[in-house]
Amino acid sequence: MLPNPHAVLTDTFGYPSFRGEQAAIVDHVIAGGDALVLMPTGGGKSLCYQIPALCRPGVAVVVSPLIALMRDQVEALKQLGVAAAALNSSMSFGESAAVERAVRYGELDLIYVAPERLLSESFQMLLNDIDIALFAIDEAHCVSQWGHDFRPEYRQLSILGERFASVPRLALTATADGPTQRDILDRLGLGDARQFISGFDRPNIRYRIVAKDNPRGQLQHFLEAEHRGEAGIVYCMTRKKVEETAAWLTGLGWPALPYHAGLDGATREANQEKFVNESGIVIVATIAFGMGIDKPDVRFVAHLDMPRSIEAYYQETGRAGRDGLAADAWMAYGMQDVVKQRQFIELGEAPDEQKRIERRKLDAILGLCETTRCRRQVLLETLDDTCEPCGNCDTCLDPVGSFDGTEAARKALSCVYRTGQRFGAVHVVDVLLGADTDRIRRFGHDNLSTYGIGTEHSKNEWRSILRQLVAGGLLEIDEEGHGGLCLGADSRAVLKGERSVELRRDPAKSATKITVAKPSRARAALAGPDDEALYDELRARRSALASAQGVPPYVVFHDASLIDMAVTKPRSLEEFATITGVGQVKLTRYGEEFLVIIAGHAGG
Ligand code: ADP
Ligand code: ZN
Repeated sequence: MLPNPHAVLTDTFGYPSFRGEQAAIVDHVIAGGDALVLMPTGGGKSLCYQIPALCRPGVAVVVSPLIALMRDQVEALKQLGVAAAALNSSMSFGESAAVERAVRYGELDLIYVAPERLLSESFQMLLNDIDIALFAIDEAHCVSQWGHDFRPEYRQLSILGERFASVPRLALTATADGPTQRDILDRLGLGDARQFISGFDRPNIRYRIVAKDNPRGQLQHFLEAEHRGEAGIVYCMTRKKVEETAAWLTGLGWPALPYHAGLDGATREANQEKFVNESGIVIVATIAFGMGIDKPDVRFVAHLDMPRSIEAYYQETGRAGRDGLAADAWMAYGMQDVVKQRQFIELGEAPDEQKRIERRKLDAILGLCETTRCRRQVLLETLDDTCEPCGNCDTCLDPVGSFDGTEAARKALSCVYRTGQRFGAVHVVDVLLGADTDRIRRFGHDNLSTYGIGTEHSKNEWRSILRQLVAGGLLEIDEEGHGGLCLGADSRAVLKGERSVELRRDPAKSATKITVAKPSRARAALAGPDDEALYDELRARRSALASAQGVPPYVVFHDASLIDMAVTKPRSLEEFATITGVGQVKLTRYGEEFLVIIAGHAGG
């Protein structure tokens, strides 16, 4: 008799219930159906094919584009006692041959392969001789030129449907807009597949965006107050800034490592490995970092520069909190970021139409930064999704007021006009405030009617006002990308008094002095110092076990499992079996050992 999916979920994976669409997808595939699964990162896509793999006869073939992803998945499955292996170009001939033999003799439940290996003549012949439970095509957006990460080899995967018509196929992805979804279905010949489309929301991620004031100080405050000892990613726009920021954080005592495409391969790989295998490493990186990182316990993603689009921001921040525990997405941005991104677009080689699209995307992310609405709502709307005000972003937690900014807007716009529509925000603010600078004297701007007419607002307030005028299209950044401001098409109506302007009142300057560190929200379930101490001891044991086996700690137990242990303090194997993520094999393998540690803290 074939195993029942719910029994596999509890006995093998140690989870009490399916999440969201998982149960429906699993049933559909077990019954032989094809499926397109779109689920956000951390939504639980792997179980959607891993459980059918164990419930259907034969081996499940999982196509995965990256060796690192395969390795992680295989290690995690082995820890659960599932017979899984990978075939990829990093393996020796002998290793590959052994795995192929195991496939042939039906010894494996899952085999992870790179697309080119799957399509090779020899592997196709092997598949002809065996029972196949299903094909799972992970990161299916790689098939589409519309998405990022296009992989030409993925195109040929359509032959699977032709050659193995009776084998169910699932395409899974976390990132595919409408056109990409259609492209996936077309290219893979999955026209009749059932579509399981979940929303894009990542409810455990808290979004916060602050105006740059003293960015390093702001970052330091964020890290020290909230993320001591935790792993995270700090994104910067340039390699130079990556290096400088990593060195600066190291100087402050943070275990920070740089990552960018200019580093030699060995250093890059070593830094990435450390990030994955050790706990509490902060990686400082350009956007070259992230693809293929499956690390579930990334507790924060910080941006020291504004990304080029909301889509990119969603993708990058999405690397936080895959394990479902609380995580932070934090960004500091300023007008200079907009200017730099604009320069990238203008200096780029893209055709005009593409540049227009990129400019619109840049405007959209500036809108996200300047919104008074729930950040999550603005973010999700860009991805054609919706939500209620979330209660877990800065604008929900600390609502920002607005004010009638018509007068301020008029002053700013006319100051831009009078100075000739070619100076950047810094100079315009200086003129509004009546500052005494070389530049003002050199251009005679102290003689303008707008000189010193803005003293009712502070420098930071004017900066915020100018950013909002750019975000609202009343001001534009010059085409050449020098950062000069000029009047936008809609500005006339404001200058002529025909239109009013509502502006966001930026929260008072955020504290950058180091306050007492708050306990991490991911550990919120821990009741007090005793639980914390127990949790730390459990983590230490997990690290030791992981390094003895040469696997990342989260492969042994996820943080959620250790937190559950520290809170519920099981006293017997029977009780230990109810911990989330503890299936039969982990119970046998690790139960006693962890129970001893827990007993040492019981009743104290
Ligand atoms: P994705 O591939 O969609 O990013 P994963 O498959 O890696 O997501 O799952 C994300 C996390 O959620 C993992 O830590 C996984 O163990 C956990 N998870 C998945 N399904 C369940 C479930 N039904 N109950 C509890 N935890 C789950
Ligand atoms: Zn919100």
